[in-house]
Amino acid sequence: MATRGVDIIKFLMRQGVMLKINDVIDNDTAELVATEFGHTVRRVSEADVEEGFIGAEDVDDHLLPRPPVVAVMGHVDHGKTSLLDALRSADVASGEHGGITQHIGAYQVRLESGESVTFLDTPGHAAFSAMRARGADVTDIVVLVVAADDGVMPQTIEAIQHAKASGAPIIVAINKIDKPGADPTRVINELLQHEIVAESLGGDTQMIQVSATQKMGLDDLIEAILLQAQLMDLKANPDRTADGVVIEAKLDRGRGAVSTVLVKRGTLKRGDIVVAGSNFGRVRALFNERDEQLPSAGPSVPVEILGLDGTPAPGEAFAVVENEARARELTDYRTRLKREKAGAPTNAGVTMADFMAKLQDKKVSELPVIIKADVQGSAEAIVGSLDKIGTDEVRARIILSGAGAISESDVMLAKGANSPILGFNVRASSQARQLAEREGVEIRYYSVIYDLLDDIKGVLSGMLAPEQRETFLGNAEVLQVFDITKVGRVAGCKVTEGTVRKGARVRIIRKDIVVLELGTLQTLKRFKDEVNEVQSGQECGMFFQGFQDIKEGDTIECFTLEEVKRSL
Ligand code: GDP
Repeated sequence: MATRGVDIIKFLMRQGVMLKINDVIDNDTAELVATEFGHTVRRVSEADVEEGFIGAEDVDDHLLPRPPVVAVMGHVDHGKTSLLDALRSADVASGEHGGITQHIGAYQVRLESGESVTFLDTPGHAAFSAMRARGADVTDIVVLVVAADDGVMPQTIEAIQHAKASGAPIIVAINKIDKPGADPTRVINELLQHEIVAESLGGDTQMIQVSATQKMGLDDLIEAILLQAQLMDLKANPDRTADGVVIEAKLDRGRGAVSTVLVKRGTLKRGDIVVAGSNFGRVRALFNERDEQLPSAGPSVPVEILGLDGTPAPGEAFAVVENEARARELTDYRTRLKREKAGAPTNAGVTMADFMAKLQDKKVSELPVIIKADVQGSAEAIVGSLDKIGTDEVRARIILSGAGAISESDVMLAKGANSPILGFNVRASSQARQLAEREGVEIRYYSVIYDLLDDIKGVLSGMLAPEQRETFLGNAEVLQVFDITKVGRVAGCKVTEGTVRKGARVRIIRKDIVVLELGTLQTLKRFKDEVNEVQSGQECGMFFQGFQDIKEGDTIECFTLEEVKRSL
């Protein structure tokens, strides 16, 4: 404002606010001061850098038809992977050179008719919901695979819920109809209970009988998809700067960060500057699922891009920005936001609630872990599942999770945090391995997520404090108390219930109130002899080391304590 600080201090003083030159004032005061000094104020926030990242909606007259994007979901083992594989063979170029060869997380099947369909090659709805959770609804149509010999199963229902929540129409692929036990009618009827009504029953859901392994009914399924797509009138404007969604990202030894993205609108070109999450870079090359280099990719086209400075998370939105400065501005802001969120806890402004939470946190045993996986998606899936295993008492604390080989810096981090490194489908570089050996850092490798989870579950179970289980043995009543020189007070008792055993734990109860819980019963006598056990109805003598206040009429309860290991 080109105003001297003292003038502002003076002004504030007149308003009754005493401040020093370095003090911070809030927005409202600042606005008041600025206005008072003759300036016009426009409020902006740091988050404003996000504005315009994803461009405005397309206007109608530029829109051209685009291929549908299809996700395949269903219960485990119902044939999602097999169906995706089978659908590749529907491609015109399949079998010849140029067929779909690469796994890039999504692929486009080109049909003889000239039309194409984009499939998300990420079976299981974990990826689908991860994308949805980030507001990235890329899926136009959900193909729900249900095995005809198994019917509707828990994950089928889950998939239905996910699809319904996303608003994507469902096409049911009744799979494995080649099997002897196949019963498509049963599937159709079971789906009725979940409000999926087949066209044959007057509903609006197409149900196609297929066999993924025998390649039966695939044409019908594709036709159903195209029909549904036609109904939806899917369109996008190819003539604008591109935006879309990250499908997956990984670090490749030779090529650096490789991200598969799906273009939603516009056309992504080589040389474009792309921002995805908190990563950015100039697109050096685009590859499709046939390992062909492309100059550009239009709506609904999945491509692998090289050139980003890191691996963005699946489901993160990407967009082309006008220049590098803008890209830096955006990613700097996002990185800062992320850091603040993960945040080193600030000491200032700790509330009592925070404090209590911290105190209670002390009781939580945490297992620190570092997770490295082949792709960002697997790392996220593992983190998500580990979160679910945790309880109020024990949980895994993720120090770091990410994609790529295990590096020396991971090992050093693990050493500092005293944590093991869990490698999922990745290996440690030889330097990292040697360093780990030197530093005594454990690296465990897995190729099946469930194995990893089971392992961690085992460790966490071991961290659970054992449960103390009490078993009642018997009660004795004190009939008389004798003072015996050199020994002390001995209680003459009668066992009224159960048995009393030497070495068992005892507590003394007076008028139904526990007066004392002693350690173990050391001395138990019947007449003159030391005995191990006294049965109900018999009399005995007891001596309690260090407790002289025993009285007539007291009850002595005898019990055992057992430590029982718990598991998650
Ligand atoms: P996903 O877990 O849903 O991905 O299921 P998969 O695609 O891995 O298939 C599970 C099992 O079912 C595999 O052993 C497949 O060979 C088998 N399978 C899949 N589709 C068919 C089919 O149409 N007919 C028969 N007979 N078996 C199938």
